[in-house]
Amino acid sequence: MTSKENQNNYTLSLPKEEMRQYGYKIIDHIVNHFETQNIKKPVALASREEMESLLMQGIPNTPLPANEVLDFVMDQVIPNSNIVSHPKSFSFVPGPSNYISVMADTIATGFNVFSGGWAASPAAAQLEIVTMNWLLEIFGFPTKKGGGIFTSGGSMANLTALVTARRIKCGSDFSKATIYLSDQAHSSNIKAIKVIGFKKEQIRIIPTDMEFKISMNKLKNIIARDRLEGLQPFCIIASAGTTNTGTIDPLDEIAGICENENMWFHIDGAYGGAAILSPNGKKLLKGIERADSLTVDPHKWFFQPYEIGCLLVKNHNWLSSTFTETPEYLRDIEGNESEINFYDHGIQLTRRFRALKFYMSLKTFGLKSFKSAITYNLDLAEQTEAILRKSVLWEITSPATLAIINFRYNPIGSSFSEEELDQINQNISKKIVTSREALLVTTVLQGQIVLRMCLINPRTTLEDIKNTLKECEIYADEQLLETSRQKN
Ligand SMILES: *Cc1c(COP(=O)(O)O)cnc(C)c1O
Repeated sequence: MTSKENQNNYTLSLPKEEMRQYGYKIIDHIVNHFETQNIKKPVALASREEMESLLMQGIPNTPLPANEVLDFVMDQVIPNSNIVSHPKSFSFVPGPSNYISVMADTIATGFNVFSGGWAASPAAAQLEIVTMNWLLEIFGFPTKKGGGIFTSGGSMANLTALVTARRIKCGSDFSKATIYLSDQAHSSNIKAIKVIGFKKEQIRIIPTDMEFKISMNKLKNIIARDRLEGLQPFCIIASAGTTNTGTIDPLDEIAGICENENMWFHIDGAYGGAAILSPNGKKLLKGIERADSLTVDPHKWFFQPYEIGCLLVKNHNWLSSTFTETPEYLRDIEGNESEINFYDHGIQLTRRFRALKFYMSLKTFGLKSFKSAITYNLDLAEQTEAILRKSVLWEITSPATLAIINFRYNPIGSSFSEEELDQINQNISKKIVTSREALLVTTVLQGQIVLRMCLINPRTTLEDIKNTLKECEIYADEQLLETSRQKN
């Protein structure tokens, strides 16, 4: 494009050849990233001051050459983010991603498919129905009667579930309704409960046992007491894989309570739901099929790039009867009943075509490959546990559960106080993060500061883990030396 044309490009377009060159350059960057990410450093460290001096600028009124902007982004913006798909990105919930889905997202955006209503894109709606059916089948939900919707993530799926639960169980008056979840439930549930207008007095946070499962006795006691006080226990949220420890609440038992008490059973499987694709995970997740609603999060352990979450429900009518509004400007596109308008199944009207990446990656790799990847992840966590158990330096705080393991440095025969151990482990994390070699941060379990690994990246090897532990041991040694020097 000549610079003259560039002066005021009111059609916001590029000539064909420039588009090609620009696009190929971006593809080269992405492919190069996939090829080299394993040997990069996963951690980006940058302060607000550094980012401000790098990126702060006024509104760009006049055009710049496209390549100049792109180069700036590739040099300065992208490197200043953690690589959550890195094999040594152990913290939070990693995002391993996959190339097919990245390209699928590019298609969805490239064609700017509107995935809100049937009339706008019949095929996008149908693909959402098809992929939703796959998920319904995987989780043992009825495929005809059941339904669901892709959301931006697990948080929105939980919110969508609770809005639905509230309407079905409470109608328009929820002033006496009470809701139950454990102290290990994900914070997005509390956020959702607040968003739907519940007061603090209506939320029951149930303590967990030594294995971080919701205490069933306490749950039953509190529900009974609330009934006696004339309240309306209306929903239990169970975790199928807590984010901290991968713990699964007793799903079958909770399902039984919900049936007897006429309560809604929501399962938050955003982290752990995908484990159903492995033989062991399937056993552990028994009872998941009894939920009224289930959150799963394809951008976690189904290896999709951000953003895609998912809510499944036993009866798709629950969603449409909760979210359907018929304003006059959508009158002409309502269509017939079998033609689903996903804007009637959730909160968003305009929606990107999220189903496409799930569809294309599952078809391309086959469910078989996903099963192998997840089984590999579960095995890897167990092998890590075995290594730690054999070491005189490490102690397991929470054993390998759905590919999450929590442990801490606590050498046999040493006489550190709890406080000192907390500090040593906090410092190990700090040093390894500062080295940028691995993303390994702490969490707090039963009052102890511990290190946590979430091993859902199929490209992480046992070697990666051994090397990281070795580095942690070196940092611990360094630190003990420093402290003893300070003491002397
Ligand atoms: C990650 C997570 C969420 C939130 O999902 P987002 O996709 O981050 O919105 C909810 N529940 C659990 C158990 C999670 O691990």
